Amino acid sequence: MPVATKRPYRRTTGNPRQSKPAPAATVSLAIHGARPVFAKSVAAPWPPTDDATLRDLVAVYRSRRWGFNEQREQAFTRAFAGYHSARHGVMMVNGTVTLEAILASLEIGRGDEVIVPALTWMSTAMAVHYVGATPVFVDVEPTTLCLDPTKLEAARTARTRAVIPVHLYGSMADLEAIDAWARPHGIAIVEDCAHMHGGMWNGRGVGSWGVAGSFSFQHSKPLAAGEGGITITNDDALAERLYRYKHIGYADGDSQGRAGSGPPVGFICHNYRATEFQAVILHHQLTKLKQRIRTYNASTTHLEKRIAAEPETGLRVQMRGRLAGPQGYYSFVILADEGPLAAVPMTKIFEAIRAEGVNTGESYGPAYQHRLWNLKPKDFRLAAGGCPVAERVGLRAIVMPHPYLGLPLTTIDRIAEAILRVARHPKALT
Ligand SMILES: *Cc1c(COP(=O)(O)O)cnc(C)c1O
Repeated sequence: MPVATKRPYRRTTGNPRQSKPAPAATVSLAIHGARPVFAKSVAAPWPPTDDATLRDLVAVYRSRRWGFNEQREQAFTRAFAGYHSARHGVMMVNGTVTLEAILASLEIGRGDEVIVPALTWMSTAMAVHYVGATPVFVDVEPTTLCLDPTKLEAARTARTRAVIPVHLYGSMADLEAIDAWARPHGIAIVEDCAHMHGGMWNGRGVGSWGVAGSFSFQHSKPLAAGEGGITITNDDALAERLYRYKHIGYADGDSQGRAGSGPPVGFICHNYRATEFQAVILHHQLTKLKQRIRTYNASTTHLEKRIAAEPETGLRVQMRGRLAGPQGYYSFVILADEGPLAAVPMTKIFEAIRAEGVNTGESYGPAYQHRLWNLKPKDFRLAAGGCPVAERVGLRAIVMPHPYLGLPLTTIDRIAEAILRVARHPKALT
């Protein structure tokens, strides 16, 4: 329940029926009784729905072809991979097992190490653990909040087999710098693109820079089908393994019960197959992705301008990917780690912004500090020097979910006002 709607408005401080008007100086914020920027909490419905998708879903339902690798899934995976400059797309049940599938297909396992950024959703590191390898956390850049390429070398050991850069929230990991480090050592780059559907880095789709990329279609993601995921790659042999991994060992083209050949010995496969319904929903969303990214970028450009115009607040915006063109957004992230605002507890900031009618939230925080993170200390490690940036800056993030970015620019402008209003009054919040 949004706080804003529970509070009576004080339209004028001079209202005679208002028994105890607070002194003007103390009611600059809705949390203290001022009129909120939005009378009703801003709604940003997600996921999108439309009649064309509904008709297609009904058609698939009536066709009784609900399983995996049907016509729509084949069309969608081709289109999605193509959009991101890759030849192959293998759809699965979520964006965690896609990461696991890539690592397993690269024969990464017990005794191996995989570098992951400290600031990410736990899945990135859990996938490493699922294949028996050790996740090694490396710190992020204070600007982009993505993996810091300058800290990779110190984390490298003879066992380092792969690195998983994450294109986090509203930025992209520096693929060129990571590639320049990884290539000479034969370290595989596996991109976690769970936030970056439709993102381009220097003209090429994310997920196609490394050996393979992983995307999630979980309910909140920029392409959403309730659950789901896909791996993309330009490596034919890897694509075959990925397919076998998700289809209990069968190769693409084998009819069920008639395996033309088996998976390599010891390559243990699973049932991670998705359904035709998900493919229908996702393909419709994909056809609108380019336009949506344009809209999102117009919104974030406006938000960036508004925030940059008031540097005295101490607010700053997560820097976009250096060679992004264009990039997508899972969230728009504003950092409150400078100036007097840095002393205000984040819970207080969220509460105050919510009172103005905007629902922002916290970042994941360092994955290894998450409440749900329970690996034994011997099963993961932090790179030497730890991850001070993730632990400090990562916890000062105001995370605005991407559906807000689809709202009209007039609303976006008022959202900026709501956040700036709170940021202008750090003393009132401490
Ligand atoms: C959502 C997400 C995943 C995987 O998500 P699933 O919920 O398993 O589909 C992986 N990495 C990151 C960074 C994510 O945000």
